[in-house]
Amino acid sequence: MDNKKVRTDATITWCPGCFNFQVLAGMQQFLEEEIRKGKKKEDFAIVAGIGCHAKIFDYLDMPGINTLHGRVPPTCLGMKLANPSLNVFGFSGDGDAYAEGLEHTISIARYNVNFKYLIHNNQVFALTLGEPSPVTELGFKDTTIPFGVKVPPMNPINLLLAAGATFVARIFAEVSQVKEILKEATKHKGFAFIEIIQPCPVFHQDAGYKERFYDLKQVRHDKTNLKAAMERAEEFDYSSKSSKIPLGIFYQVSRPTFEELKLNKK
Ligand code: SF4
Repeated sequence: MDNKKVRTDATITWCPGCFNFQVLAGMQQFLEEEIRKGKKKEDFAIVAGIGCHAKIFDYLDMPGINTLHGRVPPTCLGMKLANPSLNVFGFSGDGDAYAEGLEHTISIARYNVNFKYLIHNNQVFALTLGEPSPVTELGFKDTTIPFGVKVPPMNPINLLLAAGATFVARIFAEVSQVKEILKEATKHKGFAFIEIIQPCPVFHQDAGYKERFYDLKQVRHDKTNLKAAMERAEEFDYSSKSSKIPLGIFYQVSRPTFEELKLNKK
């Protein structure tokens, strides 16, 4: 294995302008930096589910598994139990994490398994032509749902906070934000849930996100305060086209990881 080469030679088949390119570049830069600092490629493992996001697995020349739809968390859990020192990164789309795999996403947060979980949230099942996912806004119309979405979206940030996640963050799909949050999440001992707001230029356009973002750090948000985190999370309900959208770390606390509890024989 060439320790310096993080990208494969595979031809990238994402649509031109797809925000997955930003996530890939952020992850690549993060890994290259870690390797420059002395880490080896075999210190890491990546897991991807099914969806447009999952092609990242083909483009990163890293050890790992392209697993079943919705099964990224249990695959990461297996890796961590087999080798607790491995740095594991899971990738899912909103369909993968919030529909097919929701029960795993909730359980893994409760268990506090020490891996980092990145959700490429473009608010649709993009790979299969834009069907609504659990976070698609009310009224969204597409050829697959001509009368529009009639059920309100769920709020995954609040769901994960309620489930007991020890690190909950949201960023936009932009290279430097991806790289920075990966650094922060890697310092965290425990499960890190990172939602990446990521427009799909084909099936779910940018809803003026950039004008609506604000940085939680700049408003001195207390990331150890669960109630404050939940209130911030409520500000964007995934349906609104005008509300502010907080970015950054909503919540971060420390508690024993599942691996520590599992390996403790007492
Ligand atoms: Fe990206 Fe959307 Fe194209 Fe999928 S369909 S590759 S998410 S732009």
